[in-house]
Parts: sequence; C-alpha cells; structure tokens
Amino acid sequence: MTAQLIDGNALAAQVRAEVSHRVQALKARDVQPRLAIILIGEDPGSQVYVRNKVADSEQTGLAATLERYPADMAEADLLARIAALNADDSVHGILVQLPLPRHMDSHAVIEAIAPHKDVDGFHLASAGALMVGQPGFRPCTPYGCMRMLESIGMQDLRGKHAVVIGRSNIVGKPMALMLLAANATVTICHSGTPDLKAQTLQGDIVVAAVGKRRVLTADMVKPGAIVIDVGMNRDEAGKLCGDVDFANVKEVAGWITPVPGGVGPMTRAMLLVNTIEAAERVSR
Ligand code: NAP
Repeated sequence: MTAQLIDGNALAAQVRAEVSHRVQALKARDVQPRLAIILIGEDPGSQVYVRNKVADSEQTGLAATLERYPADMAEADLLARIAALNADDSVHGILVQLPLPRHMDSHAVIEAIAPHKDVDGFHLASAGALMVGQPGFRPCTPYGCMRMLESIGMQDLRGKHAVVIGRSNIVGKPMALMLLAANATVTICHSGTPDLKAQTLQGDIVVAAVGKRRVLTADMVKPGAIVIDVGMNRDEAGKLCGDVDFANVKEVAGWITPVPGGVGPMTRAMLLVNTIEAAERVSR
C-alpha cells in the first residue's frame, strides 16, 4: 500500500484564503484585525518564526506589528507592555514568541496575556476551556492536525482509536483532548510507555509529537492507519525531517503527513485562524 498524502501546504493555502475572506468581511465593517507579536532576544529560530508570522498575517490582510526587545529586558517591563496591549482595543491577538530568556518566568508572561487575546492558546484559561469543551483558543499545532483530519473526512472519530506519542502542554496533551472531543478513543504515550509498538499498532490514527527521528517505524503502524507527523528534526545531511520513518511508513499507512510540508504550514495557518476569530469575537 502507498499512503495518500495529506498536503499541509495546500490545506494551509486554503485556510489562509478562508481567513482572507473573513478579514475582508471585518474590514467592510471598519475593523482592522491586528496581531501584536513580541520577540525578545536574538534567537535565530525565533527570528525566522516571527518573520513568517508577520508575512503570513500580511498576506491575508491581518495587520501584524512586531515589537523586538533586547535579551536583557526586565520581566516587569515586558509585563507592563503586555498590559498596555491588553488594554489596546485595536489589538486583537497577542503572541509572545517562546522561548523567553532564562531570567523570565514564561508561565507568568503567558498568564499576563488577556485570555481573549491569547491566540497561541497557551493561557491556563485556554487550556481550561479546551479541557471542559468551552469556546476558547486552541493551540495552533494540534488545532492544525485536527483540521488535517477533517480535510480527509475525519470529523467525527467515534469508533476510531487515536494514539498520541508525546505529552507536552503545547502539543501532545491538547492533541489528545481535541481527539477525545471528536469522540475518538485516545491513548497517550510518552518516554515511560513500555512497548510503544504494542500501543501504536492499535491506532487508526497515530500522532507522533516527540522530536526524535524514526520514533515511528513501519512495523509500528497498523495497515491503513492515518499518520500525523508533528516532529521537526534534522537528518545527517541537515535536512528537516519528522519523527516518522516516512519512506517505509508510507507503504503501510493509509494517509500520512510529510515533513516538511505537513503540520508546520498548518500550525502557521491556525495562528491566523485564531487571530481572525479573536477579532470577530470582540466585533460581534
Ligand atoms: P517536548 O516538550 O520535548 O515533548 C516530547 C514528548 O515526547 C514528551 O512527552 C516525551 O515524554 C516524549 N518522548 C520522548 N522520547 C520518547 C520516546 N522514545 N517514546 C515515546 N515518547 C517519547 O516536545 P514538543 O514541544 O511537544 O514537540 C515535539 C516535536 O514536535 C518536536 O520535534 C518539535 O520541534 C515539534 N513541533 C512541531 C511543530 C510544528 O509546527 N510542526 C510545533 C510544535 C512542536 P516525557 O513527557 O515522558 O518526557
């Protein structure tokens, strides 16, 4: 069997087009949706991420402002800046790029963002809303994975067994909750899971969110399963690759996401969805 590809680039383009449409509708009512991005320090990866976020926003008509501060910025100054953005009605979404410099308490910084502007979906209020099935902002990566499943007709996962490898607060745990909300039976695995293969072989859907190459190999996948690869790693040649042994797993799986061109572009696109959603909610 050769799996069908879930093309993250194509789906993300479709999502961006939908966002553009919603932006135009708000602009017609004199509302300019706006995302404020804060970058502290010079981390090269973060610089690329924020540049992409600004470019993606502008492409859809969302206004994005990037504020850059030195790595030695005082946490109190950052909190004051976030408070000002919270109070600014022209700003609908606030994103503080992680990781923060070591002297800052990331938890305190995220909690300082007003929940109705928390477009990254990392605030405790957002996590709580997801937990109890209330409207809130969903973390972009698992939200993008759910959108990928929907794109292949997998909205209601009743009767499906989903296996999530990884339990981080920003990917694995919210992913599991979203799958559960879509009526899947969910197993969460982590570094302490004995016999990972016995678990993944049960999965009609397997989501790998570990950060290690070849965590999921062909012998660990049930024939026809849907495989979503969240991992971002580098191979020996320095090329971007996921957690899944793509070349071999695609011969067993029914559907598979590639890396690059899979979950990554969808994560970027879902930030735009959360931002337009934030603007629409306060403009209703
Ligand atoms: P993380 O916080 O490091 O979590 C990794 C998880 O994998 C942990 O729960 C860990 O278990 C588990 N794990 C480690 N080794 C394992 C093993 N051998 N078997 C089973 N589970 C194992 O990472 P993260 O932030 O969730 O990110 C995961 C990956 O996704 C990374 O490659 C990251 O770069 C990528 N990512 C991609 C996107 C995107 O847009 N494409 C977005 C976010 C993250 P313990 O909890 O027991 O330690």
